[in-house]
Amino acid sequence: MTSTSIECDVLVIGSGAAGSVLAATLAELTPLRIVLVERGGYFGREAMTQRELQMIQRLYADGGARTTDDGAIAVRGGECVGGGTTVNVALCLDPVPRIWDGWRRERHLTGFSFDRDASDLGVPGLNMAACLAEVRARLNVHEPDDAEVNENNRLFARGCRAAGIGARKFELNMRGCVGCGFCFAGCAIDAKQGTMVTYLQDAVARGVTLVHHCAIDAIDFEGEGGARRAVGARGRIATTREGSRPNPMPEGLVRFRAGLVIVSAGAIESPALLQRSGHPDPHGTIGRGLVLHPSLGIVGIFDHDVVASAGIEGTMYSDQFVASHGFFLQCLFAPLGAGAATLPGFGPEHFELMRQVRRLGTFGIMLLDSVGDDNHVVWDQALERARIIYRLSMADRARLRFAAERGVEVMFAAGAKEVLLPSEEALPPLDTPWFNDRSQAALCRQLPFGPATVLGSSHCQGTAKMGEDPATSVVDSRCESHHVRNLVVCDSSSFPSSCGANPMVSILTLARYQGRRLAAERARYGL
Ligand SMILES: Cc1cc2nc3c(=O)[nH]c(=O)nc-3n(C[C@H](O)[C@H](O)[C@H](O)COP(=O)(O)OP(=O)(O)OC[C@H]3O[C@@H](n4cnc5c(N)ncnc54)[C@H](O)[C@@H]3O)c2cc1C
Ligand code: SF4
Repeated sequence: MTSTSIECDVLVIGSGAAGSVLAATLAELTPLRIVLVERGGYFGREAMTQRELQMIQRLYADGGARTTDDGAIAVRGGECVGGGTTVNVALCLDPVPRIWDGWRRERHLTGFSFDRDASDLGVPGLNMAACLAEVRARLNVHEPDDAEVNENNRLFARGCRAAGIGARKFELNMRGCVGCGFCFAGCAIDAKQGTMVTYLQDAVARGVTLVHHCAIDAIDFEGEGGARRAVGARGRIATTREGSRPNPMPEGLVRFRAGLVIVSAGAIESPALLQRSGHPDPHGTIGRGLVLHPSLGIVGIFDHDVVASAGIEGTMYSDQFVASHGFFLQCLFAPLGAGAATLPGFGPEHFELMRQVRRLGTFGIMLLDSVGDDNHVVWDQALERARIIYRLSMADRARLRFAAERGVEVMFAAGAKEVLLPSEEALPPLDTPWFNDRSQAALCRQLPFGPATVLGSSHCQGTAKMGEDPATSVVDSRCESHHVRNLVVCDSSSFPSSCGANPMVSILTLARYQGRRLAAERARYGL
C-alpha cells in the first residue's frame, strides 16, 4: 500500500464549521503551510443530485444511520467537506452573550469578550463581537423576505400567535436561494453559504492543501509529562468515491508531521480521536458531558394542502420558552424518506398517512439539554467506532413533556384538524399520541420518552470542554489541551454546555476567534 509523508506547519483535522474557518483564518493572517484533512468526500454542487438516499449516504456520518447506543436518538452529522454546514438547513442564531458570560464565571474562562473595542488576551482587536461580525458578513447571514416564508412556516407562526406565543423569523446563511427545499441534501447551486463554498474556498485560494477521504487514526505525540507535545498524525486516504472531486494525494497510508495540530472533527469524533490516540485523561473528562439538543417533531394534518417540502425549510421560530423552560419551537420539515420512517403506524395506516403528505405541517421542539456526566462519547476499539451513550435526565424529560404539550396546542391553534407525535407510546386513554382535539394536549404530561418515541439530534456539543480547571475540562480558554502542548481542540466539542442556540454561528465565531488568536500567538507554538 502506498505510504505518503507530508510536512506542514499546521495540520487541521476536520473541514466542517470550525476546521474550515481555522484553516482560512490562519492562511489569511500568516504565511504558514497548512494542511486541512477531511474524512468525507468533496461533493461539490455538481454532485448534489437531490436524491435523498444517495445524498444522505454521501454526505452524512455513518451514511445517516448514526444513533445513540440504545438506538433511541438519531444523531445526524455531516461527513464531507464542509461537515455539518454542507447538510444543515442554514438557520443562523448568534452566540448568546449570557451563556458565554456564564462560562467565563463558572469555568474561569478568560477572553470571549462581546465588547467590540476589547483586545482579549492582549491580542489587538480580538473579541467575539468583531469575529461574529466577520462571520456574518462572510456567510451573508440575513433575514429572508416575507415571500420566502412557505405555507408550513406561515401556519406555524399563525399557530404561535393564536396560542399567545411570540414567533419571529430566522436569519439564514444563503445567497441567491431559489427555495428548492433540499438543504438537507446539499445545495445544488451553491446558494447555501456553508463553509465548503465560503471559508474553505478562501483557505484553498490562499494555499491551504485540502486532503479529503482522509481519516485520521491517531495524533502522534512526543515527550512525556509536561513536555508531551503533538507532532503530527497518522491516517488513511481512501479511494475517492463516485461523485467526489479528485483528491490531490494518492490513496493509502499517510503520515503528517506538523508543528501544531488542531482537532476540529466535531463533538463525536474529536473526543474519539483523542481517546484512541492515547491522549492523557487523568480525570476522565474526554467525551464526558455530551449535549445533544434532542428534538421532537410535532405533525399536524390540515384540511388543505400545506406542501411543507416546497420552499425554504425553516424560516420561523419561537424563543418564547427559552428563558423559562430551555426549549425552542422551530419550524422544519423532515425529508420525505426520513420523515416517513419517523411517522407512526404500520402498513395500511402508515400508507394512509403518507397519502396525505401534502396536507401535513410540521415543526420541532429543540430542547437545550442539561449536562449529565453519564452522557458521553467513548471510542470502542473492538467495534472501531465511537459509541454515543446518552439518556435524557428526569428533569429534561419533564421539560420535554411541557414542550410537547405546548407544541400540540400551537399546531391545533394553527388550524390542524389532527395532531400527532412521532411515537407509538400509549397515552391513556389514547393508544398513541394522535390527538383530534386541543384539550388532549394535556395527555403529553404522560409521555415517558421511551424507545418508541423518535427523537433526533443534529447539534452534538460539549465533549472536550473548555475550562481552566483540568479536573473538569479538556482544553483551556485558548482551546489548548491541558496535557499536550501544541494541540488545540476547537469545534462544537469545546462548549462547556449547550451554547443556548442552534450552534453553527457560535462554532464559526469561536473558530474565527481562535484562528485570529493563534495567528497572533504563533511564537507560543514555535511557528
Ligand atoms: C442535518 C443537520 C442540520 C443542521 N442544521 C443546523 C442549522 O440550521 N443551524 C445551525 O446552527 N446548526 C445546524 N446544524 C448543526 C451544525 O451544522 C453543527 O453543529 C456544526 O457543523 C458542527 O461543527 P463542527 O466543526 O463541530 O463539526 P462538523 O461540522 O461536523 O465538522 C467535523 C468534520 O470532521 C470530519 N472528521 C471527523 N473525524 C475525522 C477524522 N478522524 N479525520 C478527518 N476528518 C474527520 C467530519 O467528517 C466532519 O466533516 C445541523 C446539523 C445537521 C447534521
Ligand atoms: S433551499 Fe436554497 S439554500 Fe437550500 S438547497 Fe435549495 S437553493 Fe440551496
